[in-house]
Amino acid sequence: KPRLRFAPSPTGYVHIGGLRTALYNFLYAKQQEGTYLLRIEDTDQTRLVEDAIEGIIKSLTWAGVTHDEGPMLNEINDGIVEKGDFGPYIQSNRLEIYKKHALELVESGHAYYCFCSKERLESVREKQKSEGATPKYDGHCKTLTTDEINAKLQAGEDHVIRLKLPVDRVIEFNDAIKGHVSVNTNDLDDQVLMKTDGFPTYHMAVVVDDHYMGITHVVRGDEWLISTPKHVYTYEAFGWDAPEFVHLPVILSHTKKKLSKREGSVAVEDFRQKGYLPEALINYIALVGWSPEDGQEIMSMADMIEKFSFERVSKSSGVFDLDKLNWMNNHYIKSADLDVLTGLCKPYLIESGFATEDNFDEKYTELKRIVEVLRERFDKLEDVKSYYTFFTRHDVELEDDEAREIIALDHVPEIMNLFIEKMMRVEKLDADAVKAILKEIQKETGYKGKNLFMPARVAITGQVHGPDIAIVTEILGKELTKERIEFCLA
Ligand code: GLU
Repeated sequence: KPRLRFAPSPTGYVHIGGLRTALYNFLYAKQQEGTYLLRIEDTDQTRLVEDAIEGIIKSLTWAGVTHDEGPMLNEINDGIVEKGDFGPYIQSNRLEIYKKHALELVESGHAYYCFCSKERLESVREKQKSEGATPKYDGHCKTLTTDEINAKLQAGEDHVIRLKLPVDRVIEFNDAIKGHVSVNTNDLDDQVLMKTDGFPTYHMAVVVDDHYMGITHVVRGDEWLISTPKHVYTYEAFGWDAPEFVHLPVILSHTKKKLSKREGSVAVEDFRQKGYLPEALINYIALVGWSPEDGQEIMSMADMIEKFSFERVSKSSGVFDLDKLNWMNNHYIKSADLDVLTGLCKPYLIESGFATEDNFDEKYTELKRIVEVLRERFDKLEDVKSYYTFFTRHDVELEDDEAREIIALDHVPEIMNLFIEKMMRVEKLDADAVKAILKEIQKETGYKGKNLFMPARVAITGQVHGPDIAIVTEILGKELTKERIEFCLA
């Protein structure tokens, strides 16, 4: 049974590209009835962000990409507990394992101590650059004798442990998306495996962990492709089998640059906060770089699990298309359960003034009606905020020339005065009552269709097109509706 993992560094948030990587791992694991685990790669102590692990787990869980093993949120104290037999799943809790294995590589001649100072490395690099060569460690410490090494270790000199790559050897592996990859070790650097602070580098930890966690498929962004030959050699040095590799093309922004914060939201949390539904976000992001054979676009998680395959992941980078995401989110908003949706809209309704924390329940029926009539216009749930004035203003702002023309028609005062009169007499003004009033006016005056509905809509909302006018009137209530119509007729 396959075992896959998502292995983010806790640097603050889950990038939308990371969500896609996690999702593909998850989909394949679920389809094959395997295991999907979360591993936290926090060996770069300079980049740690507080509570980032909690944030990662929350974002992934919200999106429905839930792991079988790894750190889990402990609801009771908001702390973290680990689940699974292959832990610890947080790399900073595995330091002894890396150390032991690095020493093993030194012992077997596949790695060596390096005592070079930062300054020396810097000057070597500068020199190589000035000669037009690709900077690379010059192997200075590779030839130290055992005595020299021991003396330096005894003296407590700062050191790292480097991978000892063989000279002029071709390293090959197959990637499910990129195909056959082969690199000569002469073009590779003797990678640092253990840093001076006693922490492993990513390259050391990733190999040890993927091995001991039984990972069968390494699915990750293709920025790691250039590192993979070193990993492949490290597996060999340990005498371990390497997993399958699947390197995913990056996601580009609409300007065809790497998707970054500068061009808009990239954090999963930002999308959540704006009111994207998780079903829509994962459905959309799955399709950036993959499509099912049957071309289906709207897919539930179950559909995607069934249809996913690495063969159909595109070789070229996908483009993140916000319009398409909005379209898809709108689709999911329109088909969501109305009570669930109203609950999800609660923060935005409160933020914009439709309700307060205290009277939300009391006003629930009205709020639900507002969500019902507006939802087809939402790209994201926070859009509800822009309708606050629409439902509260006492006057009317005519939207455009078309609206101004309609309101100027000769018969408008007649039908709208009739509207006010009838409306004030109605006992309970709901949408059905409004419809009945319009029907009566049609019978009595002979005006119908566009000549009746358009003026009513413009006189009440100022807009020629908009949400269902009967429901809008119901929500506005008699007084506000009357004030608005009188404002227009004046
Ligand atoms: N920690 C790496 C990252 O943040 C994971 C790379 C991998 O999956 O091997 O992208």
